[in-house]
Amino acid sequence: MKKLMAANWKMYKTCDEARSTAEELVKLTATNLPADREVLVFPPFTALKGVADALAWQEGFFAGGQDYYIEEEGAFTGEISPKMLLDAGAVYGLTGHSERRHILGEGDEYIGKKTAYGLARGLKVILCVGEKIDERKGGEVEEVLERQIRVGLKDVPTDVAPDRLSIAYEPVWAIGTGEVAGPEEISAAHGFVRKILISIFGNNANEMRVLYGGSVKPGNCAEIIALDNVDGVLVGGASLEGESFSQIVLA
Ligand code: PEP
Repeated sequence: MKKLMAANWKMYKTCDEARSTAEELVKLTATNLPADREVLVFPPFTALKGVADALAWQEGFFAGGQDYYIEEEGAFTGEISPKMLLDAGAVYGLTGHSERRHILGEGDEYIGKKTAYGLARGLKVILCVGEKIDERKGGEVEEVLERQIRVGLKDVPTDVAPDRLSIAYEPVWAIGTGEVAGPEEISAAHGFVRKILISIFGNNANEMRVLYGGSVKPGNCAEIIALDNVDGVLVGGASLEGESFSQIVLA
């Protein structure tokens, strides 16, 4: 299974800035990219086509959409469909990111619908899950992860191709805070995520990637990526500069 090194650019970068960061990333990374790694960038929608074009000719590099709606087209002002993402060059879609759960108010049921819909419409999907700090302190990590995964994958066919569905474990308290989860916390959470995936998808789940996200940086990536059941990373802040994300990809 190839490790997936993913960048989430959130609501940062103009079209020109995004394209030139993508070009810099290719320049710094492509010739040294190990055969067992893939690179994925989630730019803002406005920059998706430019970034996808900059990455398209490069083997192992992909673009994705940070969000999408659960219809193909229609009177849904402000929304964008998987069909539109694919048309702009996206291969992946992201669901359940903590900022969409906790700032935009998306719930497990809607995230579940979105995950299944994106897969059915041809996207590869990464479902993000993770506990808040009070849930960790209250000993509820497994309960939260199990609920977010089971409801989030409720409508996904059990024979889904395993390379099309990934989970990103992103403890909310580690996102954008500089506070990275420790190796034991990451290993325990990833082992638990794998166990739940196996209970849903059987052996196929061993081929599904489980990414870690939360304050990953060039200096801590190698240690994180070497842990059992860590099949990649999802990186926010440290992915915004081509040089820093390139160091993470190659760590
Ligand atoms: C993220 O946005 O998914 C994320 C993990 O952000 P950061 O790397 O900045 O913590």
